[in-house]
Amino acid sequence: MRCRKCNTKAVIGLPRHNAAFCKVCFNEYVHDQVRRAIKAERMFNRDDRILVAVSGGKDSLALWDILLKLGYRTDALYVDLGIADYSIKSREKVEQFAHMAAQSHGAALLIHTVQQEEGAGIRELADLIHRPTCSACGTIKRYQFNRAAVEHGYDVLATGHNLDDEAARLLGNVLHWQEEYLDKQSPNLPASVEGFAKKVKPLYRLAERETAAYAVLNGIDYIVEECPMAKGSKMLLYKEVLNRLETESPGTKQAFYWGFLEKQARVRPTTPAMTEKDRLTLHPCATCGQPTTAEVCSYCKMMVRAKASIPDS
Ligand code: SF4
Ligand SMILES: [Zn+2]
Ligand SMILES: [Zn+2]
Repeated sequence: MRCRKCNTKAVIGLPRHNAAFCKVCFNEYVHDQVRRAIKAERMFNRDDRILVAVSGGKDSLALWDILLKLGYRTDALYVDLGIADYSIKSREKVEQFAHMAAQSHGAALLIHTVQQEEGAGIRELADLIHRPTCSACGTIKRYQFNRAAVEHGYDVLATGHNLDDEAARLLGNVLHWQEEYLDKQSPNLPASVEGFAKKVKPLYRLAERETAAYAVLNGIDYIVEECPMAKGSKMLLYKEVLNRLETESPGTKQAFYWGFLEKQARVRPTTPAMTEKDRLTLHPCATCGQPTTAEVCSYCKMMVRAKASIPDS
């Protein structure tokens, strides 16, 4: 297998592009895909301050690395969920990478510890309020990522969602015809009201095996295991199904997700952050001030219930 660009020995084959690359040309390919994503979706520019949500996994650490190497002012936020070994190991990986990023690019790492700030680890918290762990986790992460971006004055919040994540999410939304979610499934959600950070997904043009290869080839030490709570999730099932299709017919995921984005852009040329109805009904949460459609936001409601159940709180 030879590199398509320079004809030296290739280290990775990309069947969906009918190509193979050596390490140098593969890195160029990855950087180029991210540059194209940023430009095509008008995600941010050189003057913007970017906050990357990092988990310790390959995608978010690769994203932080790529944005720094492309010359963007990028810091990161890690939310420590307090899930025993998984959180200990993933935090170690994040701190290790952050140490290098601070030395080489002066980048900073912010940390939010659920056990300290919300009073219990995510599993205990979810048990106390009788909600599935992932649903409580989603509420906390959405809230804390947004809050950190807004309070620390970042222009945009970037997440490491890749092509596989977005294609799997699209499949789920289509299978259940969740039209409201379909409307908002975009790699760029502008900050349409005060108090909401702009959110972008610069890896949407890269497949999961490409971000994994990038991390390995560039010596990024990441946590290989998934969060234990993800076991049995529908997302993993959709990814498996799409991988099966991709093996038989390379390019399926890309055609599915990028095709959706093209159709969406044709129907509605500007990216929707939220519907007019949302915009009209949003107002500051009575407790914390973040935008919400109810009197009190879902995070504050959740915390009231949790605090009432946490012993000695
Ligand atoms: S799998 Fe669930 S608990 Fe784990 S990080 Fe994802 S949403 Fe949170
Ligand atoms: Zn090459
Ligand atoms: Zn609130």
